[in-house]
Amino acid sequence: MIKTKKQGNLIIISGTTCAGKGTVIKKILENHNDIVLSISYTSRPKRENEIDGVDYYFVNSEEFEAKIANGDFLEYAKVQYGSYYGTPKAEIIEQLNTGKDVILEIDVQGAKQIKELFPETVLIFIMAPSMEEVKRRIKMRGDENNEQIISRFKTAYNEINQINNYNYVVVNDDLQEAVKKVEAILISEKLRVDRIEEMFVENQEEIIHEFLIDKELTNSEITVE
Ligand code: 5GP
Repeated sequence: MIKTKKQGNLIIISGTTCAGKGTVIKKILENHNDIVLSISYTSRPKRENEIDGVDYYFVNSEEFEAKIANGDFLEYAKVQYGSYYGTPKAEIIEQLNTGKDVILEIDVQGAKQIKELFPETVLIFIMAPSMEEVKRRIKMRGDENNEQIISRFKTAYNEINQINNYNYVVVNDDLQEAVKKVEAILISEKLRVDRIEEMFVENQEEIIHEFLIDKELTNSEITVE
């Protein structure tokens, strides 16, 4: 009776540093094969545990700027320590058109740009339970110098101040609960009335007529008894 739009939803997941958004997204992707994660381009150096083409497409600044000039990005921004990060356009449009939901794990600046381009984008912000907890998680990671840590904190406070741009906020104090909440959002967004493309209403008269005939048959059966 209802035909929903074939196009997938565009979903942005942002979050404060150490909020665990990467882990939440990984779990969601494991559970849903109709959801894909967009792989961004970045000019920041590759970390030891990262794989080119899996975590990011790693390019240098000149290559990134050539892609900007070519109009290859849906959005881009300088996020950490002056490095570029950008969302590739062509792949995302293609995946949305095949009906897949596409998750963009991007910062607040990128989220703002995408929302202006596609107002129907679903924006989710994932937060750590407290800044004390963020401090603890950064210390545990221990792979950055003081200047970098201070910069991360400043970015986190700045991002929290822009939470009004988002539709949903999920506090990640328990991973399983946070995953459940994000899944609930994604499922609900699929069921929105404005995702209906066509409604097929069967012929009312016919249905009522058929119903009455069925009823008469039942009545006659009762009479016969
Ligand atoms: P990291 O360097 O730790 O991988 O990522 C730093 C920040 O860059 C994260 O907040 C992440 O959400 C953001 N980011 C990753 N890819 C993109 C992108 O394509 N565009 C924008 N605007 N931000 C991104």
